Amino acid sequence: MFKEELARLEREGLRRKRRTLEGPQGSLVQVDGTSYVSFCSNDYLGLANHPDLIEAVCLGAKQFGVGAGASHLLLGHSALHEQAEKALAEFVRQPAALLFSTGYMANIGVLAMLAGRNDAVFCDKLNHASLNEAAILSRARFHRYPHLDMDALEVLLSRSVQGRKVVVTDAVFSMDGDIAPVPKLLELCEKYDAILLLDDAHGFGVLGDGRGILAHFGIRSHRIVYMGTLGKAAGASGAFVAGDEDLIDMLVQKSKSYVYTTAQPPMLAKAILASLNLIEAEAWRRKHLAELADHLKSGIGDALMPSNTPIQPLVVGASEAALKLSAKLMESGMIVPAIRPPTVPKGSSRLRISLSASHTFEQLDRLIKALKDAAPY
Ligand SMILES: *Cc1c(COP(=O)(O)O)cnc(C)c1O
Repeated sequence: MFKEELARLEREGLRRKRRTLEGPQGSLVQVDGTSYVSFCSNDYLGLANHPDLIEAVCLGAKQFGVGAGASHLLLGHSALHEQAEKALAEFVRQPAALLFSTGYMANIGVLAMLAGRNDAVFCDKLNHASLNEAAILSRARFHRYPHLDMDALEVLLSRSVQGRKVVVTDAVFSMDGDIAPVPKLLELCEKYDAILLLDDAHGFGVLGDGRGILAHFGIRSHRIVYMGTLGKAAGASGAFVAGDEDLIDMLVQKSKSYVYTTAQPPMLAKAILASLNLIEAEAWRRKHLAELADHLKSGIGDALMPSNTPIQPLVVGASEAALKLSAKLMESGMIVPAIRPPTVPKGSSRLRISLSASHTFEQLDRLIKALKDAAPY
């Protein structure tokens, strides 16, 4: 039934294929019986396979079993969830927090609570797909402004006659690695009486001593709804929303992707607590990560997009060229994903180099050398 469509995707270099990981996530991975240096993961701090997290999950399973067995409102909410929420709120210095099963579900649940038919949402063009999906599902009027274009956003805000206004942005953009101008966004939200939803999937654990985008900018406001994910730098799974007590209570009342789903396994909440301890205690992980990024820039700096985060994209242009370069690197024992449309705009296919605190300088030197051999960087 879908043969033709799949063939077309194949011809256009857009057909996606999965590789199977034959062991844990890390800087060195096993695929097809071969080991590769991986520059693919969002495991920025190298915690996904950390012994403390593994132990926490085992202990959590022994104490609380595996499945939560019910949704949060129907007695699936355990003492471990409660503890994790308190710890997360405290960590990002917000009054309260609410756990969701994934970041995707958090975005959908939060935006639908914040905005409805008579409201308007304003999204950066390069926001994560889950935020776009969330905006559509909310049924609010959906405006998109050019990437980081605060003037364009202001024009849209000033013209809007909708009820509630919600400005929505990735804090760190997932495919470009650049950082949203949060102070300016907040200023506009104050001027036009809007809410600011920040998706800190790539900032939590990394920026602001690990506390994320709010600490990075030293910002606090009742207008901000903060969303952080726990499957990236935190090395676990899930997500949380943090803000005022009333906001969190409203999410418990109204957020369908919170109410109508089985609670995350409680053992994961235990892993999240272990992860928070490591994020706080082991600052060397962030320091090493920053040194790796500097090292990469001094190696092939000119070819990289400007980014001060562990996401270091190298724009190639055509999908086929990006795929070719990625395949060549794989032959040299390294996996660097080619990111193509529709994930990124047409003509901006790229290699998305993701750095992790678990990488060594030697591994990075191998990548720099292979890239220099493949193209004149
Ligand atoms: C990964 C990601 C999400 C989704 O989070 P999951 O927990 O993986 O579902 C949401 N927003 C952004 C910006 C992301 O990069």
